[in-house]
Amino acid sequence: MKEKLEGLLREASAELEKAATEEGLQEIRVKYLGKKGELTSVMKGLGSLSPEERPVVGALVNTVKAQLEEAIDARAAVVREQVKAQRLAAEKIDVTLPGRRRPTGSKHPITLVTEEICSIFAALGFAVAEGPEVEHDFYNFEALNFPKDHPARDMQDTFFVGDQVLLRTHTSPVQIRTMLKQQPPVRIIAPGTVYRCDSDATHSPMFHQIEGLMVDKGITFGDLKGILTLFINQLFGKDIGVRLRPSFFPFTEPSAEVDIACVICRGKGCRVCKETGWLEILGAGMVDPAVYGHVGYDAELYTGFAFGMGIERIAMLKYGIADMRLLFENDLRFLKQF
Ligand SMILES: [Zn+2]
Repeated sequence: MKEKLEGLLREASAELEKAATEEGLQEIRVKYLGKKGELTSVMKGLGSLSPEERPVVGALVNTVKAQLEEAIDARAAVVREQVKAQRLAAEKIDVTLPGRRRPTGSKHPITLVTEEICSIFAALGFAVAEGPEVEHDFYNFEALNFPKDHPARDMQDTFFVGDQVLLRTHTSPVQIRTMLKQQPPVRIIAPGTVYRCDSDATHSPMFHQIEGLMVDKGITFGDLKGILTLFINQLFGKDIGVRLRPSFFPFTEPSAEVDIACVICRGKGCRVCKETGWLEILGAGMVDPAVYGHVGYDAELYTGFAFGMGIERIAMLKYGIADMRLLFENDLRFLKQF
């Protein structure tokens, strides 16, 4: 019996040596000390021994049981240390490594140009005004003196949402909304997104405009020319040539197209300016008295001017961008240059 018990102890010790996990140790504990364990079955057999043998063997079983428990606990401590060491090694952080550089964004060229234009006019006392992109025919056409049969109202150019509802084709409805809300003096600059059925290398169905309006007593065409020249000199440089050509818009009279000397060839003539030496950048004019009729202003008392430009075109000229589509593709290699 004694030999059998010592054999069990040796066998268990050998298994303990190999156990590397807490689960493995638990299995050994169950195998020897559990309810159906080997040591337990020896203890159950004590009853069949003679009264003389019983206490001797009983004491021996208890000794072996205590030794086994001690050995399992000791091994468990070692295994716990090993597991902990492994986990620490796996989770080790080298705090001396350099940090990961997160990519930083930058402003889109359209945003940059819009902000620059707004800040130039803000310095001249113009306030930024905004309006809805889904607009009523009245604000987009009717109040701006577009006759019912004007080609700009055609389905070909305008995205209609409903009978009298459309995606605004220009930022000019903001002028009407502003004038309906306030009496002169008015000095606003209105940047925004506009929509037209048009798409090629120089046109996009969605693009950006910025519109300006100034109405007060005694505003003249000289004020229009002065303010626009000052604006152009701030945006493109003091020495840039500026010229005005007669033009036509339904909501201004007289009207003018404003050109700047070609920023590429400085007026000598090149492909960009089609050999003319000039680039058209905006349209402007004195507000047509018919428009004042729609907003309740006294056309005898007040005069004013309005102007508007495409922000994409300004950005292309300012940054030397050849294809308008680059502004909408949002290729990071392109955007990172700004
Ligand atoms: Zn040129």
